Amino acid sequence: MLRLVLLTAAAVAAVAASPTMPLAAKALYNSDLFQGDIKGVAGQEAGKERAAILGSSYLWPGGQVPYVFGSSITSGQRNLILDAMTDYHSLTCVRFVPRTSEHDYIEIVSNDNGCWSYVGKIGGMQRVSLDVNGCMYRGTAVHELMHAVGFFHEQTRNDRDSYVIIHYENIIAGTSYNFDKDTNWQYAGADYNYASIMHYGMYAFSTNWGVAPTIVPTQSGATILDPYDKHGMTSSDATQIKTLYSC
Ligand SMILES: [Zn+2]
Repeated sequence: MLRLVLLTAAAVAAVAASPTMPLAAKALYNSDLFQGDIKGVAGQEAGKERAAILGSSYLWPGGQVPYVFGSSITSGQRNLILDAMTDYHSLTCVRFVPRTSEHDYIEIVSNDNGCWSYVGKIGGMQRVSLDVNGCMYRGTAVHELMHAVGFFHEQTRNDRDSYVIIHYENIIAGTSYNFDKDTNWQYAGADYNYASIMHYGMYAFSTNWGVAPTIVPTQSGATILDPYDKHGMTSSDATQIKTLYSC
């Protein structure tokens, strides 16, 4: 009986320790995906597997990304995603174009688990998942599409230690590899930016959401929002896309 009481107390304590992690964060920070929301990476040959920006064979030719909406996508979701695409169309040369017969394209779905994408063009059909449960935010859509265009995360840039301190003691056990820095990388024309749509929030993979930060800016007074709390890409994101795609 005492054992049962203690177990119950422990269960209550475990729940109480993480009371406020929003669904949008749970959907984005998946412990079974690389860095939380990356399903796979184009170009796995040695020395390229951690490239922040991939080799030209993994880019979309001419910056044209053919897309289709999966049957799970509702008209409201379609409007949100099309709105997210306007960031690319107004600020960069990348164009999301409805697929006709292209071999390589993205299929955007809302009935898979979590928010995720592949990084770069992997060849053939590749999914971008915007789960109806937690991913239908403009910022999240811009973020996942930028993975598909060829980008990793801002906080894993090789120069991040000048801008953020990673608090490993606050990271969920077994997930600290998500904070490994890129070892092979090229950064295209923009400095580190807390506001990048590719930057995770301060409590990513935290053992105690909202209380124990994992990513703390070195710049005093600065704060870092989660992608779903951002409106869209920054001018520095646009600069990197334009540089990567030579336009
Ligand atoms: Zn991501």
